[in-house]
Amino acid sequence: MTGRLIVVSNRIPMGDVPSGGLVVAIHEALSERGGLWIGAHPEVVDEAGEEFIDLPSDSYEKKAFRVSEEDHRTHYLGYANSVLWPLCHHRADLLAMEPSYAPGYVRLNQRVARMIAQIATPEDRIWVQDYHFLPLAAALRAEGVTCRIGLFLHIPFPHGSDLDALSERDDFLSWIAAFDLVGLQTQADVARCLETFRASGKGQIMLDGRIRIGKRKLDVLSFPIGIDAERFAELATKADGRSLLNLSPREDIIIGVDRLDYSKGLPNRFRGFGLFLDKSEEGDRRVSLLQIAPPTREDVTAYAEIRDELEAISGKINGAHTELDWTPIRYIHRPVPRETLAALYRVARIGLVTSLADGMNLVAKEYVAAQDPEDPGVLILSRTAGAAEQMGEALMINPYDPGDIARAIATALAMPMEERKRRHAALRKGVMTENVSAWCESCLSWLERPRRPSQREEESDREQETT
Ligand code: ADP
Repeated sequence: MTGRLIVVSNRIPMGDVPSGGLVVAIHEALSERGGLWIGAHPEVVDEAGEEFIDLPSDSYEKKAFRVSEEDHRTHYLGYANSVLWPLCHHRADLLAMEPSYAPGYVRLNQRVARMIAQIATPEDRIWVQDYHFLPLAAALRAEGVTCRIGLFLHIPFPHGSDLDALSERDDFLSWIAAFDLVGLQTQADVARCLETFRASGKGQIMLDGRIRIGKRKLDVLSFPIGIDAERFAELATKADGRSLLNLSPREDIIIGVDRLDYSKGLPNRFRGFGLFLDKSEEGDRRVSLLQIAPPTREDVTAYAEIRDELEAISGKINGAHTELDWTPIRYIHRPVPRETLAALYRVARIGLVTSLADGMNLVAKEYVAAQDPEDPGVLILSRTAGAAEQMGEALMINPYDPGDIARAIATALAMPMEERKRRHAALRKGVMTENVSAWCESCLSWLERPRRPSQREEESDREQETT
């Protein structure tokens, strides 16, 4: 391939060796191919100019664009996290429509597009990550950039009825339509995207599943993201989770790990566990819920509220069930080092995922990777999380029904070893093979594939349109 791979993501690792699944996968892809990684500088400034800041990096280039206080308020906290996040997570009731948000969001994308247009060549491939940059392809086209541009959306594609609640609904569809490839997490997301374009009359669905928009054709495909599973499985054996928690031999834990976000279904998770305790009789073993949920985005009102709600529910449950030597819900508000997290997953009898809506849910995959295959725990998984499409051997629950969560907890705790092993082996195989490198490679093999003759025509049409 001639030309470079240019990755654009909101977060960019500042140091040399990044940690965490997605950034590691992108780092590895760029280290292999060379190329350029563009992201937001984490330090917010008064005035953001149009010059990139070069970041230290060995085998590929890294450049950061500046973010002003106003950009942070309108783009990051505003349109991205108070409008698009609730919209895509089926919570149109939480949309915060401030008049400055949409213009601020588009303005940042236009500025970044002008900066990229200065350095991009027609042979480059631009790979845009997530909902912070939906207008970027349209803005790049307006600047005359003709190279292939792909988007990967890590969060769900919105339901058509929610999209109707967005004042910029038509803009949203035009932003998406300006990409050449739209990568989504699941087949269900792809179906929603195609149906939205069909219903809007803005695109025609072709027999091969692509969308024809004017002269151009847009590919919408699912690329379910994975984790760095081998490394995580190994990490899980480094420490003994039971001694970290100081568990007595008759105690077991259920684990929940999430950012404190309304999409994760935490109130019903606690209620479901409370119902389980109400109905269970004191047996040989006692089971507590270890919930690790560090607060995020606390400057957004909806996030500040959820913390109070959860403290009230857990206080009530603990009040009813705590004994002198035992607390049923242990609720930790801090981030936990990955090695500790992996060790805690490994000793948990149940991994409990109750998202009401979730692009994928990597916690489900981490829990499976961390288990001891000879004595694995049970994954309880929300059927409305993206991961449910690949992880059919989990115990599926309806996250809107605390009773269903309570029943699944009882079933999981009583599950015979043979069934636990069978389910876990099937889940583990998927998590190990459909890992983050496989995800990265399949996205990039599309983005980097040679142009077909018809695409060459389309792309030269675009060059003529933009010149
Ligand atoms: P989301 O992207 O919506 O936060 P995911 O489940 O897909 O949800 O990914 C969350 C990631 O953040 C996982 O890798 C998980 O291990 C990590 N994480 C969540 N909470 C914590 C925590 N308290 N400490 C450390 N890592 C955490």
